Amino acid sequence: GVQTPILDLAADFPILSRPVHGRRLAYLDNGATTQKPAAVIEAEARFYRESNANIHRGVHWLSQHATELYDGARATVQRFLNAARADEIVFTRGTTEAINLVAQSWGRPRLAAGDEILLSTMEHHSNIVPWQLVCEQTGAVLKVIPVQDNGELDMAAFEGLLGERTRLLAITHVSNALGTVNPVAEMTRRAHAVGAVVLVDGAQAVAHQAVDVQAIGCDFYAFSGHKLYGPTGIGALYGRAELLRHMPPWQGGGDMIRTVAFDNTTFAPPPQRFEAGTPNIAGAIALAAAIDYVQAVGLARIHAHEQALLDYGTRALQDIPGVRLVGTAQDRAGILSFLVDGIHPHDLGTILDAEGVAIRAGHHCAMPLMTRFGIPGTARASLGLYNGLADLDALVAAIHKAQALFGTRGGTAPCTGRAA
Ligand code: PMP
Repeated sequence: GVQTPILDLAADFPILSRPVHGRRLAYLDNGATTQKPAAVIEAEARFYRESNANIHRGVHWLSQHATELYDGARATVQRFLNAARADEIVFTRGTTEAINLVAQSWGRPRLAAGDEILLSTMEHHSNIVPWQLVCEQTGAVLKVIPVQDNGELDMAAFEGLLGERTRLLAITHVSNALGTVNPVAEMTRRAHAVGAVVLVDGAQAVAHQAVDVQAIGCDFYAFSGHKLYGPTGIGALYGRAELLRHMPPWQGGGDMIRTVAFDNTTFAPPPQRFEAGTPNIAGAIALAAAIDYVQAVGLARIHAHEQALLDYGTRALQDIPGVRLVGTAQDRAGILSFLVDGIHPHDLGTILDAEGVAIRAGHHCAMPLMTRFGIPGTARASLGLYNGLADLDALVAAIHKAQALFGTRGGTAPCTGRAA
């Protein structure tokens, strides 16, 4: 049967009541970044109003208080990912920095010429370029798992690419361009069987489903706060304790040392070893507030709500002549990527914007995937927990309007006489 959306939480998000171009805003660009609930905005403001001090160095009360809040935020992230220990959570600026940390601290000292890093055609540039950099530094090489026409990974090819030279599998949990959910637990088991380490890019996963790093079994898991209703400039890396313990620092500075002398400096244990300098204290605390928010709503309910919207949106788009979905994997999360015949995605995005419908158009930082499909980009509507049927109806109405403007309505609408 057809599921129905169950959440109605837009009122928790102040920005959503702001009209855009005089229209009700249909915010469908959650894959780029999510809006923030008042509870998160308030948590960040409250920190500066009531608790601001630097951490880990003060003898004074406020510093100890700020340190407790920051450590508490780490424990919140630990529970959120079901990590075994709080010191397995490193705060970073986001997913990109987390992946670069692993590339430089785990990869650079360990990889040798001919070692293989396995990733997939559907990776975001931030899970490609850091590995290319480390390949240049070490002589390691990239191997790429192909994607099938429906946007699922070619699992037979994956099996074939695994071998004794495979040192690392770096794979996205959910594709930001297609919404494909990859079988990361199974892939981790297969990669571990050949002795490889596994990093999962969770940027597009954590807001849409519960994540359990122990159930997945991966060695590293990265995500960004801003795609999880939290602030920009904060994210986290989960790293298994045995691995983090043996990884050298990748940035030097205050707070990451045990002792410093000109002839010998010793480093703090993880996670401090990887958090040089004053961190984004307020951001970490507001990220914890975002996690508290989504957990109070419940990730299972968020998932059910978004799956109902995804079904509704998929049917609605498939019913429009001239619209083609890109990525029709069995298991998808939060994303509708599509093309409209005769209308460039950027033109479509501009027309939709004038109707108050915010989507993203372009290559979505996944240029190799676009090349694989032989297209320059797509239009992407991406869902958040506050979206409802009205947002998808607004999307559909705006696409009809664009087709009428361009005179490209799949042959069913009267031609406006304008050139496509
Ligand atoms: N990986 C994926 C799958 C993403 O969607 C994104 C953001 N679009 C990133 C990594 C990078 O995240 P950030 O820019 O927050 O570091």
